[in-house]
Amino acid sequence: MKRKRRSQKPKIKLLQAPRLARLKWLRHAFTTRLPGGFNLNYSAADRPAKVEKNRRALLRALGAKTPGPGWQLITLRQRHTDIIRAIASTPPEQLSGSQRERAGGVKLVGDAAVSDQPGYLLAVQVADCLPILLVDVEQRVVAAVHAGWRGTLSSLAAKAVGRMRQDFGCKPKRILAAIGPGIHECCYEVGRAVVEAYEGRFPYGEKLFRRTQPSPSEVHWQQPRLEPSPSFGTRERRPRPAATSPRAERFHLDLVEANQRQLLAAGLQPRNIWASPFCTACRTDLFFSHRAEQGRTGRMMAVIGLVER
Ligand SMILES: [Zn+2]
Repeated sequence: MKRKRRSQKPKIKLLQAPRLARLKWLRHAFTTRLPGGFNLNYSAADRPAKVEKNRRALLRALGAKTPGPGWQLITLRQRHTDIIRAIASTPPEQLSGSQRERAGGVKLVGDAAVSDQPGYLLAVQVADCLPILLVDVEQRVVAAVHAGWRGTLSSLAAKAVGRMRQDFGCKPKRILAAIGPGIHECCYEVGRAVVEAYEGRFPYGEKLFRRTQPSPSEVHWQQPRLEPSPSFGTRERRPRPAATSPRAERFHLDLVEANQRQLLAAGLQPRNIWASPFCTACRTDLFFSHRAEQGRTGRMMAVIGLVER
């Protein structure tokens, strides 16, 4: 049988939260590295033209009409802040060129975006840090959150829920959350300073860490462990060795549980929180991992947007 050329194109592999996927007025996805190292970030090693091509392919896969106004992809300059950008209720086609550029993320620093406006596809870029997508199913308001250890420490996901309440009148009981693939406790070793920061901030901080002692045989060959660098997840930089010796107790942070607890405390229902089972560092066949690939890797995107109000 003759196959059409088109069907031979490798398909983009996307991960979706089942309950969000059922909402006809919503589009969302967590991208993977498939096909062929599907990098979506300009600062990674790929040529800009390739990144542009990948981004267009993602928009098409999510149903953006071409030609036509289609989706406006909203990216942020992610800096591990707790800054949340509300993308105003102006339809993308009514924005001026410079406004559109700002909305397109050229100048906006922030690590979460919220919008009630159809046509915007809010994006966070990740490779280990947790991407979290939120949607109020009644008010039809969406948010995308970038939560690494710093964002989680500053309760960014809970703050995004707060912003949805304040600015858009959302009710947390109606919010669905989807926590995408990120580095899990199995692979996310952190230094003592991170443990102390969490324990100082959250009454349950201690419960977010698994402690292990290296076995004597392990100590001989074990490399010094790495502290998460300030640029973790955003820029390639050599991680610094931790101050702790390889013999010392080790700490593994559970970012998923930390964010689940914050979302529950913010008023979400347990049954409304979905979490991907994948650890990015364990599954570099499927995902980019900043930690597992020593910073030399691409970035995935978590995206969410309204088709209609
Ligand atoms: Zn792992």
